Amino acid sequence: MKNYRRCISCRKLAPKDAFWRVVRVHPEGQIQFDEGMGRSAYLCPTADCLRVAQKKNRLGRSLKAAVAPIIYQALWQRLAEPQANPPPASDADLPPRTPPLEI
Ligand SMILES: [Zn+2]
Repeated sequence: MKNYRRCISCRKLAPKDAFWRVVRVHPEGQIQFDEGMGRSAYLCPTADCLRVAQKKNRLGRSLKAAVAPIIYQALWQRLAEPQANPPPASDADLPPRTPPLEI
């Protein structure tokens, strides 16, 4: 059972790669995803578990820190985006910009 983790919402046990990892970085106390040393919480990448984590403040309790709404927003966004194929470039979303003319 090495590298198994438990989801903070549904309590499911799974290899840690199957979860999102939310980290409260030590000593800064900043909350970020995937990387960093500090207190970690694991969450299934599903709407159900994210909803429970947010509604019942599971994430905040697990990390012993206040979790800003923007953190949940970022996770909801992650859920909406396909994980396997990240878009190659974000240029398409930006309005076309004329490069500065070289004189
Ligand atoms: Zn879960």
